[in-house]
This record gives sequence, C-alpha cells and structure tokens, in this order.
Amino acid sequence: MAERSWSFSKAFRNIFSGPALITEDTWDDLETALITADFGPDVTESILDQLREDVDRHRVTEVKELRSMLRDAVEERLAKYDPTLRLSERPAVILVVGVNGVGKTTTIGKFANYLKNFDKRIIVGAADTFRAAAVEQLATWADRAGVDIVKPQQQGQDPASVAFQTVQRAIEEDFEIAIIDTAGRLQTKGGLMDELGKVRRVIEKQAPVAEVLLVLDATTGQNGLAQAEAFIEHAGVTGLVLTKLDGSAKGGFVLSVQEKTGLPIKLVGQGEGITDLTGFTPHVFAQQLVG
Ligand code: GDP
Ligand code: GDP
Ligand code: MG
Repeated sequence: MAERSWSFSKAFRNIFSGPALITEDTWDDLETALITADFGPDVTESILDQLREDVDRHRVTEVKELRSMLRDAVEERLAKYDPTLRLSERPAVILVVGVNGVGKTTTIGKFANYLKNFDKRIIVGAADTFRAAAVEQLATWADRAGVDIVKPQQQGQDPASVAFQTVQRAIEEDFEIAIIDTAGRLQTKGGLMDELGKVRRVIEKQAPVAEVLLVLDATTGQNGLAQAEAFIEHAGVTGLVLTKLDGSAKGGFVLSVQEKTGLPIKLVGQGEGITDLTGFTPHVFAQQLVG
C-alpha cells in the first residue's frame, strides 16, 4: 500500500514549521490541531498533560523535539490494542456490521480481494437481503475479487437463513473464510439488533463466529460513534474497521475511537478502489497523523 499524506497532518505541519522554540502559543496551536483532527476533548487534554509534564521534566525547549514526543505518545496509545485478526478457525466466519453507508459492502469486497492474494478460499454471504441492490453490489465486488457468493433466493429472505447457507457451503466445500454482509438501517434499531442476534445464533449452530467487525466512517467522527453504540452494546463486536480515512481531516478519530470503545482497529479503508484497504500499524499511523 502506498503511503498517503493526509490532509489532517497540515495543522501539525504548521506548528512544526513555525518558531523553533516552544512557547505558550505552541501549546494553544497544538490543542487546536488535536481538536481539529478529532482526537476528542478527553484524549486531547490527556495528551497535552502528558507532553507538558515530559517537556518540563526533560527541560525540552525545541518544537522539533516536541514533535517526536507527540508522535511517540500517539503511537504508544495506539499500540495498546491488539489489531490481529483471528482467522485461524476453519471456516473463519466474519460478520460485518454497522450503520447504513459506512462502507460495509465495499470493505468486504476489498478484504476478500486482499485475502485472495494469500491464496485463501473465500466465500461471501449477502445477508443484507432487504434491498436487491445491496445483494447486487456485493455480487459485483465478489466478481471483482474472484470469490464465491451466497445470495438470497428471493428478496427479503431472512438474513439469518442466508448466513446459515453461507457457512454451510463454507463447511461443505472447504472454504477457509466466510465473510457475511449485513443490513445497517437504524430506523428499526431494536429489530436490527434482534436480527443480528438471530444471524449469529444461526451461524453458531455450525461454526463459531471468529470476528464481528464494526465498520465506522471516519468522516463522521465522534457522531458516527454515537450511532454505532447499539452495535457495540449488542452485537458482540471484536474489532473495528475505519473507512474513508482518505477523505478525512479527522485522523485523530483513529486514536479516540479505540480509547472510547476499548476495541482494536483491525482494518482501515482509504479509498473506493479494491486495493484501498490495509491492516492497522500504530507506528505508520502515528507517523501519518503527526507528520
Ligand atoms: P454500506 O451501506 O455500509 O454497505 O456501505 P457501502 O459499502 O455501500 O459504501 C457506501 C459508500 O462509501 C460507497 O459510495 C463507497 O464507495 C464509499 N466508501 C466505502 N469505503 C470507502 C473508503 O474507504 N473511502 C472512500 N472514499 N469511500 C468509501
Ligand atoms: P416504512 O417503510 O418506513 O413504513 O417502515 P418499514 O418497517 O417497512 O421499514 C423501515 C426501514 O427499516 C426500511 O427502510 C428498511 O430498510 C428497514 N427494515 C424493515 N424491516 C427490515 C428487516 O426485516 N430487515 C432489515 N435489515 N431491515 C428492515
Ligand atoms: Mg452494504
């Protein structure tokens, strides 16, 4: 994956290309930059407190040094969570959940393609059965990635039955990984959570669920997180996928979302193309965030 220089580094770049010595202005600018990048007030305050303490203790005077301290502080915080995907079960069943439009179906397409590169046998299940277009969208991605798909036999078919058939085929035909797409409409929140619960129970009749990945749109930042709370409470989420980081000035969300949810980020989407998905590497991210 190509390195990207995100727009959110700009606020930091301005500070670090300014005066060489740390002044009260440096701290004000740093606070603004962190808030603008969507680190959130709590994380921002905590990072600033930590840096001020370190700067005092080590008698640091140069902005240049403050920059590497910030980078290290961000990396250290990002690295507190384990980004490893648990895919050793056979089949490894992955359930992908989240509100509408965050990028679930696109992520499944990219992820299937990525795994395919490792010669894995992948099958995807179109358990977002409510709209025919949702099924067709996943079918298009499956085609691009060159993986198999299980579709509903009719529109509106019980999502749990599609999930069941997907796992059944995975077992019978030796697919290594089964990735299941789900609906994300929140209008019927209670109904949707019940539906996900049922999907899960039905899968577990045949195989354990290896990962429940909650997809979050980074451009919605802290607001998106509030919308996703029901999934975190009810869907047994094991990891996060952050999408749309390519268009986002809110890269700080990467850090605050882990601290807020206590869940690790496992994948990151940075574009609409099939190769625009990466794993999560704290070192690289801290570098990209802070510059
Ligand atoms: P779903 O409703 O959660 O399944 O979301 P979709 O997969 O249908 O994606 C919704 C929109 O977001 C589509 O237009 C995607 O192309 C777009 N999208 C998904 N992931 C990314 C990403 O990482 N970057 C950008 N820029 N767009 C994305
Ligand atoms: P109305 O059409 O707004 O009167 O209400 P509906 O009950 O038909 O649906 C409201 C929204 O919830 C729809 O837009 C659907 O997207 C969604 N929805 C309703 N029933 C289901 C269901 O069984 N499964 C899923 N995934 N979504 C549903
Ligand atoms: Mg979808």
